[in-house]
Formats: sequence, C-alpha cells, structure tokens
Amino acid sequence: MLQSKLFIPTQAKPPADEVSKNGKLLQQAGFVDKLHAGVYSWLPLGLRVLNRVATIIREEHNAFGASEVLMPALQPKVLWDETGRWGTLKEVMYQWQDGDKHVGLASTHEEVIVDLIRRSQPTYRDLPKGLYQIQWKFRNEPRAKSGVMRGREFLMKDLYSFHANVADLDAYYSGIHGVYQKIFNRLGLESHITEASGGTFTKRHSHEFQVLSDAGEDRVLVCTECDYAQNVELGTPEKCPQCGKAAAIKKSIEVGNTFNFGDYYGQTMGCTYTDDKGVRQPLYVASYGIGVSRLVGTIAEVFGDERGLVWPIAVAPFKAHVLTIGKLDDEQKKQAQQFEKVLSETILLDDRDLSPGHKFTDADLIGLPYRIVVSARQGKNVEVTTRSSGEQKIMTSADALKFLQTV
Ligand SMILES: [Zn+2]
Repeated sequence: MLQSKLFIPTQAKPPADEVSKNGKLLQQAGFVDKLHAGVYSWLPLGLRVLNRVATIIREEHNAFGASEVLMPALQPKVLWDETGRWGTLKEVMYQWQDGDKHVGLASTHEEVIVDLIRRSQPTYRDLPKGLYQIQWKFRNEPRAKSGVMRGREFLMKDLYSFHANVADLDAYYSGIHGVYQKIFNRLGLESHITEASGGTFTKRHSHEFQVLSDAGEDRVLVCTECDYAQNVELGTPEKCPQCGKAAAIKKSIEVGNTFNFGDYYGQTMGCTYTDDKGVRQPLYVASYGIGVSRLVGTIAEVFGDERGLVWPIAVAPFKAHVLTIGKLDDEQKKQAQQFEKVLSETILLDDRDLSPGHKFTDADLIGLPYRIVVSARQGKNVEVTTRSSGEQKIMTSADALKFLQTV
C-alpha cells in the first residue's frame, strides 16, 4: 500500500501527557490517538495490528471447537441483581438510570450468557458448549495511565463454557490453557500461567497468564528452574514450592485469565440442563478472558526500543517498509513499484516526497519487521534491514521480493 494514501500521523516527539512506553510509542508512530484518559481511536496501522491479534485468537478458539457470538454491551440491572454484582461492581461499571429502568455498560458477560443458555433449556445432548466473543468492554478505571494496556474502553475476547459435570468442565478448562499458550506463542510472547485469587469470586479457582515486563502492574513469583509461577498476591515464598529451587519476583502484565466457577452460576441463576433421566441439573460454568487491545500494548512494551516500535511478523501491520531514497532512475522506480504491485497487502511503500532522514526515522518508529531501501546509490540492488536485530543485507530487488514472499 502507498503510505501517502494511508492516515499515519507520526509525530516528531512522543505526546507529553503519556507516561507509559506503549502509550507514547503507539501515539507517536500514528497507530492510535487518545481522545481522553483510557479511551483511544485505532488508526489504520493500529487497527491492522488489533485485527491480526484478534484473528490469531479466533483461529485458535475455532480450532478448539468454540463458536463466536456477539452480545450486547448495554445490559439491564435486573440480570446483574441475580448474582449481586450490580452492587459489588458499582465502582467500576458504568451504570445509569434510563427512564424507569437501570442499565449498565458491561465489563464482562457471565450474567448475560448464563441467561441466554438457561432460556435455551439445554439437555445433556447439547453439552459441552463453548461460546466466545470479541467485543468492546467498559470499565470506569481510576488509573488509566498505562496507554492501551489499561483502558476504560477496551477490546476483549471472552469465552464461556457450559458443562454437565465438574470432570467435563475441568478437562475443557485445561484444554483452554493449552489454547492460550498457543495464542501467546504465536504472538511471540512468553507467558507464565499463574494461580491467582478469583477477583470477585475469591473462593473459586482461577488462573492468570502473565508476560514478564517492567511495565507490568502485577508481580509474579517465577521459579528459576521449573515452570512454576504464582501471583505474589498469594504470598511470597523464597523457594519454589514445586521443586525447591530459588524463585524470583518479577514484574508482569496480565494478558489473560480463566475462572472456574463450578456450579455457582447453575445454582445462583438457576441455569440447568436436563440429564439423560429427564432430571434438571445445575450447569457447570467457566469463563476465560484475553485482553485483545491490551495485548497490542504488551507487544509494544516488550519489543519496542529507543527508536520506536518493533512488531513480530505475526501481528505486524505490514511485513516490510519500502523506502525510496534520492533521485531514482526509471528502472529503480519500477523496482520500488514492483514490491507494491506484487505484495500490495503486505508492503508499505513510502512514496512521500520527504528527506531520507525523515523517512528513516518514521520507518524505525513504525517498526515493520523489514525495511527495504531502494536508492539511487545502490543501483540495481536494494538494502534489506531487519528491524529487530539491525542486520543489513544487500541483495537484488528480485531476491528481496522472493525473500518477502517466504517470510
Ligand atoms: Zn521450581
């Protein structure tokens, strides 16, 4: 795609009112724009990354057999009263009176989906069932200072599973942990699964997926030997409780969580199924979240450097940034256009009439995996630079084209 046609408002300096690395870089590079605290517009490059992250999440959930739905963000109080969460979440949930009814903007969808399933009157033949959505959620966040990692409006993937018994729920619950590991691996992130307290359901079983980063607001205890990790909220042993070796406390970003509710919703909201003897039994329910917009911020935090963003190829808005430098002859112009022609959807061609310095600075800031320079100086060759390592190679234009078709 031609850079002159896209809307990429890069800035010479990071915005003064942002404190987080991801908030600074994503805005300076023109990926997002802050409207007010914790609320961002996603611009063409940022939206491409967000969509790529969402696609990876969709692919892995669909492969596991979950089905995608889309539920309303605007919800009635009456449902939330069934679990008492209208009251317990009132500090963080946007709630108001609409005529003679009370409504709220949801930060989670357990009440809505449990109501949906109970009204469908399932039988044992319909189970298990896994439904997920990727949807904008709202949370009245007092500390909206972490860029897109802690927004008041944010994109989430939330999956809910329904089971006839605890054994079936437990098997599905562990299966989703495998799905999550696959998703984070595909995004290039090393995640640690930790046991955690259950948020508003502290007595129930829950887990978090944490990515180590100095930008994180969480702290996890990570074993130096085995794969053990635990949120330090739960205590601070100096040694790994699993293998006895030394453990270290590290800062981390929570990118996913899973909640095993057992039969809580089945009992509390009367969500039942008919078993093979015709008897109504409570359903077993679990929910599983991934912060989609938060993951974009996490990737920016983990990989970004002093020159700008550095995107893993799996989520990069384009594979390569083609820069034209200096006065090109007709053949060189053709070479540059050839990249755009052959690989249109995966190439960003900087066709703007700007100084080389300006183009190089913007390319570093935007952080596409490869930079291809077509310049008067190089003749028939092009210079290919890997953004993450800085490694440079000179190759023919045809070879560079072939290379990009394989990565
Ligand atoms: Zn250990």
